[in-house]
Amino acid sequence: MAPAAAFAFWVLPDLLLAYHMFAPQAQGLVRAHCRFSTIRREVWLTIDDGPDPEDTPRLLELFEAHGAKVTFFVIGENADRFPELVQAVVAAGHEVAHHTYTHPTKSFWCASPARVGWELDAGLAALRRAGVTPTRFRPPVGIKNLWLARALRVRGLTCVGWSARGRELWRGEVEVVAARATRGLVPGAILLLHEGPRVPAGIRIEAIRRVLDRLREQNYCCVVPEPEQLIE
Ligand SMILES: [Zn+2]
Repeated sequence: MAPAAAFAFWVLPDLLLAYHMFAPQAQGLVRAHCRFSTIRREVWLTIDDGPDPEDTPRLLELFEAHGAKVTFFVIGENADRFPELVQAVVAAGHEVAHHTYTHPTKSFWCASPARVGWELDAGLAALRRAGVTPTRFRPPVGIKNLWLARALRVRGLTCVGWSARGRELWRGEVEVVAARATRGLVPGAILLLHEGPRVPAGIRIEAIRRVLDRLREQNYCCVVPEPEQLIE
């Protein structure tokens, strides 16, 4: 076999599969909504990995001061530990969505159908115990899985990605994170930021506060889009 043909036969399919598993914007395995349709200057701010007893109450105050409505993609384990925070998020008019039960960052790409189903069902049960029935799901770090599309479909969950993120878990400076999260800002953008102890201590809350300031400076408001507005 010629080297080019061997590469195409043996390696290319693996590369393609890896791309569709690990690239957050890839749509080959699961349709992930990464924008929404709007004619107004509005974006969808999404906060992952909570709820957190230190950050969530302060974020709720911050969002109220800015008149922002956002979606919290919460980890089921955290929802079980702090159900009152889940309820406070809902009471403040925000959306609570599903972000797996244990947030298995390293193993989600190769999780079995049973494990994927367990993560989804345990997360759904945790949120239901807190009084929420979520309709939207974001996989850990945007990683897809061969079994995820069907598992979401049978549970009535829509997969949501993002169009910009702060990447604040890796490197943290308020201005840098806020600039990343608002780079190339357009109506219908989906911004991803995090709360909780994985965020570097110096920028917890502050990076999100700076993002809200930047949005206000550019006359953008934060809304939670309707299902029919979501696009890829
Ligand atoms: Zn996460």
